[in-house]
Amino acid sequence: MQIIILGPPGAGKGTQAKTLAQKLNIPHISTGDLLRQNVSKNNELGKLAKDFMEKGALVPDTLVTQMLIQRVDQANIKNGFILDGYPRNITQAQELDAFLKKINSEIEFVIDLNTSIPVIIQRLTGRLVCSRCGINFHIRNMPPKKENTCDNCGASLYQRADDNEETIKKRLEVYNKEFSPIIKYYEEKQKLHRFDANQESEIVLNKILNMIQEHDDSLKV
Ligand code: AMP
Repeated sequence: MQIIILGPPGAGKGTQAKTLAQKLNIPHISTGDLLRQNVSKNNELGKLAKDFMEKGALVPDTLVTQMLIQRVDQANIKNGFILDGYPRNITQAQELDAFLKKINSEIEFVIDLNTSIPVIIQRLTGRLVCSRCGINFHIRNMPPKKENTCDNCGASLYQRADDNEETIKKRLEVYNKEFSPIIKYYEEKQKLHRFDANQESEIVLNKILNMIQEHDDSLKV
């Protein structure tokens, strides 16, 4: 099952993608996470991507697509994957379709998480991310049991450099500019499924799973 999760930063893409990946037993591939790994390794790609990411701008398509294709080739994608953070524009959507076609595959579901701006700012300015396993917490909504420590693996938590109000607004601007053609692209292909993501993440997850089950009744979750 090949799934794309779309939605502005703070829509809960990462959280939904991680849980869906576990439930459906397919890998979760986040281009943001992959880029951050490269930045922390300070390798060639990381050095090139860092400035764009800190400004909240998109990293050039060729760099991101190359990195993604390498990851998809490596991953066990026999049963599919969940893409989070990609595509971010039409060029990327077309490159992804062309790559999947080559391996006799295609995108099945595009999940669009609709979220309001005040909810996004509230979620992102309080977000804490685990430095080891990548799980998200929230200063107020979902604090860790022990301050600054991941409940899951015990590693330290950090605030992403781009989770400040100024950069969030810039990221939303970039997102909105790039987003409408992508929505249209998948809508025309009848792959788009919209969800109200201002709600609790469990409610949203159940709605997504119900939708997938309606299309694929062999699925047991
Ligand atoms: P995210 O974790 O998805 O919010 O991504 C964090 C940052 O990584 C974005 O603000 C971009 O700078 C960069 N990024 C992630 N995915 C992509 C992509 N598909 N294309 C270009 N830049 C990306």
